[in-house]
Amino acid sequence: MSLETYLKIKKEIGSKATLIAVSKGQPIKKILKLYNEGHRDFGENFLQELSEKKAQLPADIRWHFLGNIQSNKVSKIVESSHMIHSVSRYKIYKLLVNDLSEVAANILLQLKLGSEETKSGFSENEILDIIEKHDKQSKIKIKGMMVISENRIDASTIKLQFQQARGLFEKIKKINNEIDILSMGMSSDYHEAISCNSNMVRLGTVIFGKRA
Ligand SMILES: *Cc1c(COP(=O)(O)O)cnc(C)c1O
Repeated sequence: MSLETYLKIKKEIGSKATLIAVSKGQPIKKILKLYNEGHRDFGENFLQELSEKKAQLPADIRWHFLGNIQSNKVSKIVESSHMIHSVSRYKIYKLLVNDLSEVAANILLQLKLGSEETKSGFSENEILDIIEKHDKQSKIKIKGMMVISENRIDASTIKLQFQQARGLFEKIKKINNEIDILSMGMSSDYHEAISCNSNMVRLGTVIFGKRA
């Protein structure tokens, strides 16, 4: 990992989007290097790995949970994360809302793009439905949407899908005024994402290099 690459990307993104440095599979040393540059937002996919790193690193890091959420880990993920990006099933949403711990949580609903059978996430209608019915007094705050582009599609198709996601984002903002985050864009497609008004990008390999 070179600090120059990080600084270059940071400058390129500027104030357009919040940069989440996705540190899964990366050692503590690399995370600290960015922390010492003032970076505070890091992303992880596994609760175990997140907990281990959190215990060893400064308390003012904001941890973003990006991975698959297992039902029996919901409370622990709520306690450990500043924001949960990967809420992709109604069952998990319900468990979050009914979670009895006092800890508040910021969540994003994951949008399923295109027709990939294996991709998880909600359809547009499911997202609209959840947001319309969500109790704003709940300690679970829906802050927006998370989008992952499909594998193996070309840049112009990615852009079309990102534009569609942005259209939905505009709609849900009108329904719930606490919504202000569109988490869209990874190492391979963050330029397209930002051009489609993403305001949060999740970058791993392009910043840290290959994962272990
Ligand atoms: C791993 C991961 C990333 C980072 O991926 P890179 O291609 O390394 O930038 C971003 N978002 C999610 C949901 C991920 O699982």
